Amino acid sequence: VFMNTTTNPQPLLKIDAVAKNFGPVTAVDNVSIDIKENEFFALLGPSGCGKTTLLRMLAGFESPNSGRILLSGKDISPLPPEKRPLNLMFQSYALFPHMTVRQNLNYGLEMEGLAKAEIKRRVDETLASTDLTNFADRKPEQLSGGQKQRVALARALVKRPKVLLLDEPLGALDKKLRERMQLELKRLQHEAGITFIIVTHDQEEALVMADRMAILRDGKLLQVGTPEEIYETPSDRFVANFIGIMNFIDGEVDGEGRFTADGTTFPMPGIHPKGKATLAMRPEHMSISSSGDGLRGKISDIAYHGLDRVLHIASPASAQPVQLRIPASEGQNYAPGQPVALAFNTAKGRLY
Ligand code: ATP
Repeated sequence: VFMNTTTNPQPLLKIDAVAKNFGPVTAVDNVSIDIKENEFFALLGPSGCGKTTLLRMLAGFESPNSGRILLSGKDISPLPPEKRPLNLMFQSYALFPHMTVRQNLNYGLEMEGLAKAEIKRRVDETLASTDLTNFADRKPEQLSGGQKQRVALARALVKRPKVLLLDEPLGALDKKLRERMQLELKRLQHEAGITFIIVTHDQEEALVMADRMAILRDGKLLQVGTPEEIYETPSDRFVANFIGIMNFIDGEVDGEGRFTADGTTFPMPGIHPKGKATLAMRPEHMSISSSGDGLRGKISDIAYHGLDRVLHIASPASAQPVQLRIPASEGQNYAPGQPVALAFNTAKGRLY
């Protein structure tokens, strides 16, 4: 007997050529994404790129104009929201204000008609895993922003959906709390073994939390990958600029392994067609040249970031000041207005 043991099961959720327009606006333009079981998946893109519309189609609050949404191989497009094994956690939390935390959690399970003892068992377990046991008898107005956020999450988790959809779940929190909750969410997702699909416009948040992410722009899917793949091999200039800091150096490739910008020539490994090109370089792959050889520039600004400083360097080869990081302890070696030469590891760069 031959058994197929390859580890390539069908995706849990298949978004298959989905499109949605609102009148003349194409909010989602022929997007296909496969999302795996137990994955923490982020939909990322600038305002208006269509990420919320895509999430609302998964939840069943909007229907696609074309394309299909398959869960475990089954088309869920005809199902209304409440019949889908997907649960959407709203940005506003939408807690019932007159109910206690426990009652808020009970509610969904009572609607499902579960037995009292089973409800209590599941609610107790979820309260414990979200650190809310001590707040069970409080009403939402007696909770902090972070606690309310946890209640909203607990209320979604207690229903044990196959997929939890989260629309900017940390948007209302201040920076410190948001950073803590990012790790919390990741832990909860891991423990619950539920697939999370999160919408965010915050690049760092996506990098920290997601197993994989999709970058959208103007309704179009630009790239899907792990945070490392997206950071290190962005598919185009927009993605490169959108995730992390990227420097763009305009120059020319000679077709024989050299890149020249503002009269300075650098080795350019790999095969590249001859002609004008823009070299994208992350700050961590650039440095001030100690020999004085390199791309000419002038320091325009020095920003203190605690552990390190970011030097902003004006260069004729770059529309924006080039940014690079130096240890804070080296800060006193530099001052605005100072001319410097920039060295960079072109092997780490990408040409667009
Ligand atoms: P944001 O981060 O600002 O929430 P988003 O990426 O979630 O943006 P969507 O809310 O999905 O973007 O909107 C995508 C596009 O569709 C936008 O151009 C928006 O104006 C348009 N749009 C969304 N909903 C509607 C609607 N109900 N009627 C008309 N146009 C809409």
